[in-house]
Amino acid sequence: MSLILRVTFVLSAASTAFTSAARPSLAGEPVFPAIEGRAVLEHTKVLASDDFEGRAPGTRGEERTVAYLTEQLQKIGLQPGNPDGAWVQHIPLVGTTVQGTPPLVFRKGGAERRLAWRDDYVAWTKRVVDRVGLDASDLVFVGYGVQAPEYQWDDFKGVDVRGKTIVVLVGDPPVPDPARPGELDPRVFGGKAMTYYGRWTYKYEEGARLGAAGVLIVHETGPAGYPFAVVQGKTTEQLDLETPDGNASRAAVEGWITLEQAKALFEMAGQDFDALERKAATRAFQPVPLGVTATVSLVNSIRKVASANVVAKLEGSDPTLKDEWVVYTTHWDHFGIGPAVNGETIYRGAIDNASGTGGLLELARAFAGAVPRPRRSVLFLFVTGEEQGLLGSTGYAEHPLYPLAKTVAALNLDALNVHGRTRDLTIVGLGLSDLDDVLRRAAAAQGRVVQPDPMPEKGSYYRSDHFPFAQKGVPSVHAGGGVEYVGKPADYGRRVREEYIRNDYHKPSDAVRPDWDMSGAVEDLALYLRAGYEIASAPGRPEWKPGTEWKPLRDAMMKAEGR
Ligand SMILES: [Zn+2]
Repeated sequence: MSLILRVTFVLSAASTAFTSAARPSLAGEPVFPAIEGRAVLEHTKVLASDDFEGRAPGTRGEERTVAYLTEQLQKIGLQPGNPDGAWVQHIPLVGTTVQGTPPLVFRKGGAERRLAWRDDYVAWTKRVVDRVGLDASDLVFVGYGVQAPEYQWDDFKGVDVRGKTIVVLVGDPPVPDPARPGELDPRVFGGKAMTYYGRWTYKYEEGARLGAAGVLIVHETGPAGYPFAVVQGKTTEQLDLETPDGNASRAAVEGWITLEQAKALFEMAGQDFDALERKAATRAFQPVPLGVTATVSLVNSIRKVASANVVAKLEGSDPTLKDEWVVYTTHWDHFGIGPAVNGETIYRGAIDNASGTGGLLELARAFAGAVPRPRRSVLFLFVTGEEQGLLGSTGYAEHPLYPLAKTVAALNLDALNVHGRTRDLTIVGLGLSDLDDVLRRAAAAQGRVVQPDPMPEKGSYYRSDHFPFAQKGVPSVHAGGGVEYVGKPADYGRRVREEYIRNDYHKPSDAVRPDWDMSGAVEDLALYLRAGYEIASAPGRPEWKPGTEWKPLRDAMMKAEGR
């Protein structure tokens, strides 16, 4: 892709603390209104206020959020983003809650092990049915449950798991690097970085493809990226997209068991968990029938939940290119009102993701004031249900309002940096597409450098709202924040990140604080604005880099388009 357009976007010295400003226009260079940190903070305070009740899909919090976003987008002067003239795209969801605390029972001959709901295991079904379960389903250990021809990897080796329950490890198979003892081979499953094969969602999808009745993942904090407490969160109501087949093609039961229970299960089966786990990191691994059965009965209460993405558009200036789209995504939802933590029940989600929502409103305002207008059209997509598994963005990708073949890029914002300016910009998905180059140029214009995700082992690329676009072939990226803070000790970035995860992440205490410093968020938003403008105005389109997972899909889409 060639990008000939030069965009100048600099911070004026006097405004580095809270606003960014465009330099006066030189001939042919676009001018943008400044991003105002104050405005981002105001939006964030409103969205994270008690009135918005934690913004859970299908609640009064959603009504207020959708009304607020619509009002603000209207005020900015954007147009309704839905071709039918609406500011919303309806995303019908279905909520399923397992009733009671059913045990999961493992049996072998006369021996029996009962796993306690929530403490030892969690399970649910994606099928929209009142009752579902496993009735003495044979357990088979399938290692990492991966079929990846590009790595000559097949954990199933043709073993028929139809009607059976697979026990599977989380994460990618950790293949040691023959050249560097103690490190992972970067040529297989991304080395230290997690590929999609490592994600728990993949394990369930693969189990369903192979006709397994049940899929039980062994929880291990390191490879999962989070403690069992996070998995226990799945014992409350689970929201899913409503689908025509009621998810009949999914496995009947999906779930997790603790590492301790997995070890006990393998002992019951006369197997050594640690030895088999080591074996599973090799291509020679063979599935192991455990000679143990699993029985569980789930009774569900089911309700339909009407939710919505909020969409606004800025039409491009070019008569042809205006049919092509740059999409910005961010999620407006959070967890609503839930179990009390330190006496507080409203999960405000100030950073996650009132901040990104407020940030995208402000970015949209600045974009709407860009002179000249970009040649392509820009869609501002505020999605629902991210916290429940990227539901709003997946719903959009399944039923796009504009053709995905004409969607040139998706840029996602989530959880802004509220701790001040950084010298670097973290790109989650660095190395995957030409979007790197656009972001790198925009960062350089601010005197910043781009860096890869500092924690690639957590698989962040698969955990945000740009990912459903990637899965459909659209080059997409998630960027924001950094590690090296200006004027702060070297470990400051790591410290604030760890403190947030430990103390506030997905807890009621994720609230707006008086000591927030929005200067870093302002820079990130200005950078994203510049990058989006460049993509929307350039003659060429960004592409996936050769060898990336979604390039063949994109190439096929472009071919079908006659490009
Ligand atoms: Zn979240």
